[in-house]
Amino acid sequence: MEQVTLTIKKQKSIALIAHDGKKKELIDWCGEHRDILAQHRLCGTGTTARMITDQIGLSVRGYNSGPLGGDQQIGARVVEGKVDIIIFFSDPLEAQPHDPDVKALLRIAQVYDIPMANNKSTADFLISSPLMNEEYNHEVLNFKANIEERARTLKE
Ligand code: PGA
Repeated sequence: MEQVTLTIKKQKSIALIAHDGKKKELIDWCGEHRDILAQHRLCGTGTTARMITDQIGLSVRGYNSGPLGGDQQIGARVVEGKVDIIIFFSDPLEAQPHDPDVKALLRIAQVYDIPMANNKSTADFLISSPLMNEEYNHEVLNFKANIEERARTLKE
């Protein structure tokens, strides 16, 4: 399938999400990396975003709460090329009502080849990467060519 080269700019758009059992861990992590995070654009699911702003003082654009569609809103922003990185501290020990949304976000991050950390150590490696301060080119499925190709071949 045809690929297109997309560029993740030097200033990243980072989405921050934590399940309830992991919120403290993510907020502490944001505190630890406050200076780096402050150089980028931040957004997150509603409660997580509010708690980071209240407790760490970082400006985080809040979407809906996760169980009410916030993860899906962030997924849509990935598709639009408006979110470059996802830091998602999910809770592996607690059943989530919105588990399908979580899986959908993981899948869409794979489709659009964006970095996604789902635990603290991965997030630590990601935030310390020299690529955080550079432009990064990556290959993503050419969605326009994909639609043209599908519309042509599926009618035959
Ligand atoms: P919340 O959503 O930040 O609104 O709690 C997070 C989630 O559970 O996906």
